[in-house]
Amino acid sequence: MLFIWGFKGRNKKMGEGEFFCPDCGSYHHYFLMIVKRWFTFYFIPIFPTSTLGEYVECQNCKATFNTRVLELDPKKDAEMFEAEFSLAAKRVMFKMALADGEIDESEIEQITQAFQSIAKREIDKNDIAAELEAARDDTRTVAEYMADISAQLNDTGKEQVLRAAIAVIKADGIIDDDELKELSELIKALDMPKAYSNGILLEEGLPKL
Ligand SMILES: [Zn+2]
Repeated sequence: MLFIWGFKGRNKKMGEGEFFCPDCGSYHHYFLMIVKRWFTFYFIPIFPTSTLGEYVECQNCKATFNTRVLELDPKKDAEMFEAEFSLAAKRVMFKMALADGEIDESEIEQITQAFQSIAKREIDKNDIAAELEAARDDTRTVAEYMADISAQLNDTGKEQVLRAAIAVIKADGIIDDDELKELSELIKALDMPKAYSNGILLEEGLPKL
């Protein structure tokens, strides 16, 4: 007899209140979410095994933030505070572009444009240069990086990161097997429901993974 068991991250609301959302630029209701790793048997969660992370989710725009967002001074720090999906999308795009060697000017331009449409704001050149440097110094693979931070993201954030990665692999017009393999590892690390990620791949004109 074959037993099917595994692990799955589950998000649970631990608290709520009002906070200043840096992405909305105004006060909104937030949920404090905790992500626990659950042992599953035949895909049914049986018991939690460990805490993977926690985040603050804006109930207006659905962006997620590090819990430090609750302590920030909106007048002083809000502009500096970046949503987790935004940090993750940037890092994943640069790491995927770096995977096949060096990044050229046109790739940087494409990443900048993809990132601007995700973050819905202008990204300045210094920001891009700093992120390129950080992505180079980060020795983790895309999947390792994502496994470390996926517990800071809700489904909306995971979708944004996946779409950012797809934008990068589509950028040069050719999608090869290595890129699809990397994408498949990213999806696994994101811990997204298969139907959800396949829906996005279909929409983007890519094969199911
Ligand atoms: Zn918001």
